[in-house]
Amino acid sequence: QAAFRSNLSHLLELIGSGKESLIFMKRRIKQLEAHWAPAARRLEAKLKGARRDQKQILIHIGFLTEESGDVFSPRVLKGGPLGEMVQWADILAVLFILGHNLKITVSLKELQRCRFRVIDTFGTEPAYNHEEYATLHGYRTNWGYWNFNPKQFMTMFPHTPDNSFMGFVSEELNSTEKQFIKNNKDSNMAVVYGKEASIWKLQGKEKFLRILNKYMEIHGTVYYETQRPPEVPAFVKNHGLLPQQEFQQLLRKAKLFIGFGFPYEGPAPLEAIANGCVFLQSRFSPPHSSLNHEFFRGKPTSREVFSQHPYAENFIGKPHVWTVDYNNSEEFEAAIKAIMRIQVDPYLPYEYTCEGMLERIYAYIQHQDFCITTESSPLVASPQPARALSALAPNAPHLVWPHNASLGSEAWPPVHSFQGWLAETGRTCTDACLDRGLICEPSFFFFLNTQDAFLKLNVSCDRTESEMNHLYPAFAQLGRECYLQKEPILYSCAGSNTKYHRLCPCRDFQKGQVALCQDCL
Ligand code: UDP
Repeated sequence: QAAFRSNLSHLLELIGSGKESLIFMKRRIKQLEAHWAPAARRLEAKLKGARRDQKQILIHIGFLTEESGDVFSPRVLKGGPLGEMVQWADILAVLFILGHNLKITVSLKELQRCRFRVIDTFGTEPAYNHEEYATLHGYRTNWGYWNFNPKQFMTMFPHTPDNSFMGFVSEELNSTEKQFIKNNKDSNMAVVYGKEASIWKLQGKEKFLRILNKYMEIHGTVYYETQRPPEVPAFVKNHGLLPQQEFQQLLRKAKLFIGFGFPYEGPAPLEAIANGCVFLQSRFSPPHSSLNHEFFRGKPTSREVFSQHPYAENFIGKPHVWTVDYNNSEEFEAAIKAIMRIQVDPYLPYEYTCEGMLERIYAYIQHQDFCITTESSPLVASPQPARALSALAPNAPHLVWPHNASLGSEAWPPVHSFQGWLAETGRTCTDACLDRGLICEPSFFFFLNTQDAFLKLNVSCDRTESEMNHLYPAFAQLGRECYLQKEPILYSCAGSNTKYHRLCPCRDFQKGQVALCQDCL
């Protein structure tokens, strides 16, 4: 039986020392200790003594191994990617607080075969994960093709429902701190997102910097050794790379946190918003992806990124997040003026609080079981219990799980959160579900991969074929052909084609905790 822990000193010993990266993680864990403890107590109360087995977890921090060259450790003090270390520190804290038995390694020799979960910042889409399919259809990259259940890949943001959303945390403020921050904001102060001098070389920034500088004092936290980095203009007040605590203090004073378009999807904008800043970022048109941007090239995802921080844009939005076209000077200037006038409360989405992360990872450990194959699942033997429910949306038939069905009671997420929809042509299941206020849930594809499901969605097929294709099950209007999926690990929320209406499995979700359905705890 696992018992919640509140004292983290044993974890700090387990982490060891020496490397700068480990020192950074330990410092973070210590700083957040006072936030983790009350969060754990709240979760414990919520779970009302539910039995939890203590797991043996081997945590292999792959990017820190000597075998991989440990390119990160030497960069910690130079502002290199700290986001990964933030996330690893928080994962370690969560697993330890949940009471599991941890072994931490940073050496390949100590890696063992076990039940894998992979920490994978930007995610791995199913088409890139299936080795044979990836090889045959041009989805083979340096990563992926491990034939995992795609939910074994755990991401930094909830951008790809095919994977599990792991996340990290940001410090949550109490009401006194929030009030203090609001009273002490300097409405003329802007901080630039990015610690590496290279972002100051981005083309076209002179124009919008000139506008920003008309209204605000611009601060930076760009790393430098002895001399001021030449890329950073003289009118910018550069503090150099700050310790995390001091960086938070800077954010508490600032009104605006501004992104230049890089780095993508890091923790800093969430921290800024949590400290009452407005985050201003550029819209990408056309969107960035592995097809047109060096950074995403070779990553196992076809995702199109429409702004520097899509989570901030789509899950938080105004008044905290403003996404504008930086090439349009009028739009940019109007945004700056508007931001200076508005009052914004500090805000942190629940899924990025300590309690939210503990709750989510608790649910994964308790319920995710990748060893159950669909063949042996009790659902497979059952007749299709889905039925059309036309009362909710008279013109759009969709499928739900009948509440009186007895089968599938052990499934997770629970089957009654399921809704099956026929997507418009050219639409991914990720988007088709979002359009309906739902989230794509790949574990439910299984219910839709039958001729009966097509029938109940009012689709009549002249012909039905079963093939390996990450867009299936799907319907092609031309020729009235229906396609079933032959390979369950290829079920994918991502991917679209103007030829197909995809059959999409969606589920409800908790506001502020998108990884969990209403009934998922
Ligand atoms: N950070 C810091 N000092 C600074 C600026 C940022 O310690 O001067 C921290 C910040 O608190 C955040 C982390 O660096 O948690 C990662 O930030 P970012 O979003 O830039 O992600 P990265 O690109 O490093 O992965």
